[in-house]
Amino acid sequence: MSIAAFARRIELETRPIHPDTRVALDKRWAELPEHAKTPEQLLGKCAVGCEGTHGVFPKCNLTCSPCYHSADANKVRIDGNHTVTEVTKQMALLRQIRGPRAHAQLIGGEVSLLDPKDHRDTLKAMRAVGREPMSMTHGDFDYDYLLATVLDEDGKPAFKKVSFAAHFDSLMRGRRGAVRPKSEAELNPFREQFTKMFADLKKEHGVDSYLAHNMTVTPTNLDEVEEVTRDVLAMDYDMMSFQPAAFIGDDRRWKENFEEVTIDAVWERIEAGAGQKLPHKAVQFGDPRCNRHTVGVMVDGRFATVLDGDEPKDIAARDRFLSHFGGMIFGDIPTWALTVKVIRAVASHPGDIPPLIGLMSRILKRAGGTRAVIRAARKGKVSFKTFVVHNFMDAEQVKPAWEMMQKGIVADDPKLKETQERLGACMYAMSHPETGELVPACAQHSVLDPIENIGLRKLLPLEPKGERRTGISNGKADELVAEGGSRW
Ligand code: SF4
Repeated sequence: MSIAAFARRIELETRPIHPDTRVALDKRWAELPEHAKTPEQLLGKCAVGCEGTHGVFPKCNLTCSPCYHSADANKVRIDGNHTVTEVTKQMALLRQIRGPRAHAQLIGGEVSLLDPKDHRDTLKAMRAVGREPMSMTHGDFDYDYLLATVLDEDGKPAFKKVSFAAHFDSLMRGRRGAVRPKSEAELNPFREQFTKMFADLKKEHGVDSYLAHNMTVTPTNLDEVEEVTRDVLAMDYDMMSFQPAAFIGDDRRWKENFEEVTIDAVWERIEAGAGQKLPHKAVQFGDPRCNRHTVGVMVDGRFATVLDGDEPKDIAARDRFLSHFGGMIFGDIPTWALTVKVIRAVASHPGDIPPLIGLMSRILKRAGGTRAVIRAARKGKVSFKTFVVHNFMDAEQVKPAWEMMQKGIVADDPKLKETQERLGACMYAMSHPETGELVPACAQHSVLDPIENIGLRKLLPLEPKGERRTGISNGKADELVAEGGSRW
């Protein structure tokens, strides 16, 4: 490489905002519907949105009510080659449209049914194109599986950090040791055990982790959200995410009136569990009818939000930082490059230092003051926490609304119009390399999954009775495959 080319590479690597990110953000903003172009909107300013895989391992070995997988999902064989190949293609399109960096969920069925090497290779393929992958699981796997996924054949870590989201709630059936839980509290030892595996991973192999806790909420467990929040806040999860149930996916699992569970109803109970208000109006991903979230620092049980929508100085700082630094990438880059990048960013906007100091001092005040933070830090009781509620929509509305959108028709019916508005501002996309399209996850699950799984059943039929899948994994999965099919 010539000196000039080398210098250009270094300049690009340390440029505060990568030019491809700038292009992807501007495109994202331009394509947002007008109602979503609000001051608090983060899409198109600092984020392109979340991404997820589909049709790459549809099978699962637990049962949940509701379940967003289509009725045929368990009739498709898990096949590592298919997973790695298809994920690679899906991620390539996301890289092309959404730019060099985004969070992507490895999702579609139960990820721990993948052979650990296939799981690892898939994570590597996602990282290779700048995706920060999060493996979405029911959490019912052993430490051996985690090690076999995270460590290469030579026993050395394949990753510096891994992200997993574990789904725990009492609507799930078939977990080892809690086949039919009667309450959310009954699952606490399993929630703890999940985090312990990652603490051991760090202790023994130095691999960091980011852990999310997912819970589906229906009228049955709505009133337990408060207790779950309280209990899980004391555990080592970085994010707590709640999904009010929707009529989507497998209609054999629609057993309650999910409409009773709203974002507000869930958020109230999260606040009750956290023992305080959780301000969320300063930032928004996509449409507020789809998502609500807040990020803050938990200091010895007290949550200090990073941005408070009722504090004008916070809002002024937010706008300033978004316009100057929105789109800066901090993850997965060498420390030297990050340091130079930050120095270049600050040097180009030195006037942002006083507002930054002001914001940090307000966060410290919300957390109880500097002394309280130092005391808590000494006890290891300071951590970042994110609360999320994601509100999927019902297939009954998504299907017609999406089909009309494909034809460029704006719905007159208020419910369908709302659905179209939300789909238009979607922050959770799935990629279709065969058409070059990105599709909202609601449309994927409501319209495309059932069609896709018909094709996958032919492409990847279940193994004949008696054949066992190889690799370290949850024993139940092997049993199910040996039985030649799903448990339904
Ligand atoms: S349209 Fe559906 S998948 Fe997209 S953000 Fe809204 S609820 Fe989520």
